[in-house]
Amino acid sequence: MIESIFSDDSIVLRPTVIEVDLDALRHNIAQIRSRVGQARIMGTVKANAYGHGLLRTAKELLRFGVDELGVAFLEEGIILRRAGVTAPILVLGGIIGNQITHFLEYDLQITASSVYKVRQIDETAGAMGCRASVHLKVDTGMGRIGIRHENAHELFAAAIEARNVDLCGVYSHFASSHDADPSFTRLQLERFMDALDYFPTHGVPMPVRHIANSGAILQHEDTILDMVRPGIMMYGVYPGPEVRKSTPLRPALSMKTRVVYFKVVREGASIGYDHTWTAPRQTRVVTLPVGYGDGYPRSLSNRASVLINGRRYPVVGRVSMDQCMVDIGQDSAFNGDEVVLIGRQGAECITVEELAAYCDTIPYEILTMINTRVPRKYIRAQEDVMDADLL
Ligand SMILES: *Cc1c(COP(=O)(O)O)cnc(C)c1O
Repeated sequence: MIESIFSDDSIVLRPTVIEVDLDALRHNIAQIRSRVGQARIMGTVKANAYGHGLLRTAKELLRFGVDELGVAFLEEGIILRRAGVTAPILVLGGIIGNQITHFLEYDLQITASSVYKVRQIDETAGAMGCRASVHLKVDTGMGRIGIRHENAHELFAAAIEARNVDLCGVYSHFASSHDADPSFTRLQLERFMDALDYFPTHGVPMPVRHIANSGAILQHEDTILDMVRPGIMMYGVYPGPEVRKSTPLRPALSMKTRVVYFKVVREGASIGYDHTWTAPRQTRVVTLPVGYGDGYPRSLSNRASVLINGRRYPVVGRVSMDQCMVDIGQDSAFNGDEVVLIGRQGAECITVEELAAYCDTIPYEILTMINTRVPRKYIRAQEDVMDADLL
């Protein structure tokens, strides 16, 4: 965790905050649990838990019934271990040679995608006098990491042979399980199941099988095997616009700030860098202390809305690094008034999906772009707890 003035309670915190609704996280995990039955749940907390704050979010997810955690790379796993998280943690990304000793030292599960890597892991564990926990990755069509499904038997054989390796799991990843068209997901599942036939055929106990991400959990029940790896749906966001919303989810993250400046702008005056917006008539404009340096994208300039006093108002002019401006027309707003950038205020709501659409991107990117300089605040019914988790 970063030691940081951003988390120093003795100073007044900046008004721009991320609020994480712990009741929503709990609700989403309960929904996932009821959908996946007995399957283990590996909560995916890579990229600062999709912007929600790695450490605190991971701990809450485990409390709410997540069984294991998945992270993208070694350092994310080490942060969790150093903070005392004892649940199994799988690093989903590929390894680079001399990282293996650190995986073993911190008891992190390793993804192995090639025979060579399995042997390297086996040797390192042997030299260190310990055992390595390994999940084998099969590429069934994602084309990222993993041994090609036709050759998976070579990887399986190498792992079974390796004397210092505990074979904890075998997994694959879907490329388009969030789509309306199921055909590629069906093909990937079929390739995965075919590859897994190796184990009964060779009289070897089946390792934990896992392939389902959020899209698959929502749309393809038969992909729910021994374990599932939900990410975005835990946070209450659907993985794509077409996905079947078979499970009711509640968004956990809100982004809020406060008005810091108010002015009356004359007709014809321009606002912000490059004067991309000019007041069509005399109007009132407020300035917000948030910008693309916080992860509120510049591509929202002249597109997004914010909520003030329960009403929607447009962001005008370019979003700059640390500030942006909002046209409130003839309405009034005062310094210190709450402004919602993402989330609910009164009857109105701005979703990450809406912002993603303005930016021509996906909700995942909006969430993970939110900078670590924005403090995270964790809210439970009635009670809120400021947290120092900034990474
Ligand atoms: C990110 C990730 C997930 C979770 O994906 P969602 O679409 O957020 O559910 C699962 N598995 C792997 C390998 C991932 O990289």
